[in-house]
Amino acid sequence: MTDAPIRVTVWNEFIHEQTAASTREIYPEGIHAALAAALREHLGSAVAVRSATLDEPEHGLTSDVLARTDVLTWWGHKAHDRVSDAVVDRVQRRVLEGMGLLVLHSGHASKIFRRLMGTSCMLRWREAAERERIWIVDPSHPIVDGPEGEFFEIPHTEMYGEYFDIPRPDEVILISWYEGGEVFRSGCTFRRGKGKVFYFSPGHETFPIYHDANVRRIIANAVCWAAPCGSPYFGDGRRIEAPLSPIAAKHIVDESLHRKG
Ligand code: ZN
Repeated sequence: MTDAPIRVTVWNEFIHEQTAASTREIYPEGIHAALAAALREHLGSAVAVRSATLDEPEHGLTSDVLARTDVLTWWGHKAHDRVSDAVVDRVQRRVLEGMGLLVLHSGHASKIFRRLMGTSCMLRWREAAERERIWIVDPSHPIVDGPEGEFFEIPHTEMYGEYFDIPRPDEVILISWYEGGEVFRSGCTFRRGKGKVFYFSPGHETFPIYHDANVRRIIANAVCWAAPCGSPYFGDGRRIEAPLSPIAAKHIVDESLHRKG
């Protein structure tokens, strides 16, 4: 074990906060600032948090920044198509190498999530400020260490409903029910290469969801869960010239030749 802090980069598209008063009122310094504060509040010196936004050069996700990122969190909505493919390639590569990735709310439609999942990642949605009841369906999972009870609620949310076109998750940790009747796999994990990916759906920009204590705790837990651990990355293919152990000479007889004779 090492005491080095988990290096987190909180990525935010950062458009709604600059263009919509309703979002700016909730997140005056941006969604990224609220998420960074949640991580510092729960993890203290165990985490070193930086943020990056779409309008920065290379969206703030240079090779150097990504090389020094253990866990990346992703919030985007209006401008998924403005994220450069070169940056998506770079993030994907880092995930395969072991960088953790938390995809939040409308990040379901981001280029990086769709790339990693290989499916449309589309879903049903409705904006009716309805109640969401989030059920913990994998209570032993470290991501749900904190909330008390079998479920917690968000009073006003955007509905995200099934069918959610993702590949079968490694783990479904949370399932949401909505006042209007839909359900949704709201907390799912995936492994890609050596990297761990967590999708967590709460977080619509016109509701103060990232100020909710349970939501903040889950995101902090997920950062710890997604932090790299274990062996180095072995995913690069390579030709093996010399075998590790001697291979006896083989005398392969092509049976088809005998049959012809
Ligand atoms: Zn939304």
